[in-house]
Order: sequence, then structure tokens, then C-alpha cells
Amino acid sequence: MENCVFCKIIKGDIKSDKVYEDDDLVAFNDIGPQAPTHVLIVPKRHIPTIQDIDEGDRALIGKIYLVAKQLAKERGLDRTGYRVVANCLKDAGQAVFHIHFHLLGGRKLGWPPG
Ligand code: 5GP
Ligand code: ZN
Repeated sequence: MENCVFCKIIKGDIKSDKVYEDDDLVAFNDIGPQAPTHVLIVPKRHIPTIQDIDEGDRALIGKIYLVAKQLAKERGLDRTGYRVVANCLKDAGQAVFHIHFHLLGGRKLGWPPG
């Protein structure tokens, strides 16, 4: 998608601090980290919101959690805990309309979220 910042990152047109990549997914550090670990796990295919995923995306969405688990373990967060969160649409504050899952950890995270 032409004006999508994450598509540009995936194409390499915008620089990012990549921490993981495979055929389907990329993960990179958030530009405005909200915790010591703040990684975005992003499908390479442009899907605007969670409302746009369908039955064919089951494996892709499952894989996102396996990557989150792996990245968490690499950072020792399997011992301390972490959060995986995806914002959908306006009330959740979705700012980039290419689905992404935030992996947050390394500090005590408040609940309920703001
Ligand atoms: P959302 O609010 O849509 O769930 O989260 C979007 C996230 O993308 C934000 O945490 C924001 O800091 C991050 N972000 C936006 N633009 C860029 C960018 O160009 N590079 C990186 N690494 N992160 C970005
Ligand atoms: Zn995109």
C-alpha cells in the first residue's frame, strides 16, 4: 500500500531496527517505546485492521503469538511477564492502519489500560 508506513518499512524504504523476519512477518523496535521492550510484530501483507482478518489468516495470526513468545524468551520476559496487544480502530487509538501486535515488557504494566 502506497502511503502505509509499515509497508514502507517492510519494503526497506523506511529504516527500522529489525529484530525478526521470516516469509510472513517482520518485527522491529517501536520508534516511541513505552517499555524497555516494545517490539511491533507485523504481517508483511497489508491488512488494515483486525476487522479485516479472515479464516485464511488463522495460521498467520497464530504465528504472531509464537514469534512474540520467542522474542519474549530471548529477552528474559518469559520469567517476568509481558503483554501482547493489538489496537483496533478509533477507540483503541489505532494510529497505523496495517495490523501490528505490540510486545511490551521489562517493567510492571498497568491494568486496566488507559
Ligand atoms: P498503534 O497506535 O497503531 O497501535 O501503534 C502504532 C505504533 O507504531 C506506535 O507505537 C508508534 O510509535 C509506532 N510507529 C509509528 N511509526 C513508526 C515508524 O516509522 N517506525 C517505527 N519503528 N515505529 C513506528
Ligand atoms: Zn501496509
